[in-house]
Amino acid sequence: MFFRYYLDMEVIHFAHCDDAPGDKTLRQKAGPVRDINDKIRETVTEMRRLMEKDKGVGLAAPQVGLLQRIFVTHAEGDQFRVFINPAIIWTSQEQAKYEEGCLSLPGLWAEVIRPQSIRIQAWNEKGRAFTLEVSGILARVIQHEYDHLEGVLFIDRVNEVKRNKLLAKLGQAAKKVNKTTARGA
Ligand code: ZN
Repeated sequence: MFFRYYLDMEVIHFAHCDDAPGDKTLRQKAGPVRDINDKIRETVTEMRRLMEKDKGVGLAAPQVGLLQRIFVTHAEGDQFRVFINPAIIWTSQEQAKYEEGCLSLPGLWAEVIRPQSIRIQAWNEKGRAFTLEVSGILARVIQHEYDHLEGVLFIDRVNEVKRNKLLAKLGQAAKKVNKTTARGA
């Protein structure tokens, strides 16, 4: 049962539809992990597999249907990282614009403005606490994934006109996703 449960895990695509159970999961705030145990480590392993399969640079637990405060990253030029119960404790005044995609919004891309640098505290899958101060792409990926734990998608961070255009493309783009090689998060 345990093993089968994880084999069934898959990335949820946002459908922009009130009735879609996946949309409800993606829009909820995730709860804290109480104990970093073997089940959590299995979850992390499976999330890594799914992120790599879809050529993503990050994946958050709500994207695979789990409302837990966990995300993983593998940004360009960086190692694989695990963040459990993360807290962004500082963001720079300086902001940056960068094009984002999302494994839950296949085929959609938009420039999003966010702080250039951040400091984050979290635990890894071994239960070790760490603090990380980063800039550039990794800071970007971390903020995108952190948003997923709050039920926020990158389309919420663009203006309404742009957002409506993106949502209009959603159904069309979903059909083409299998052929895309772009890297989302
Ligand atoms: Zn995403």
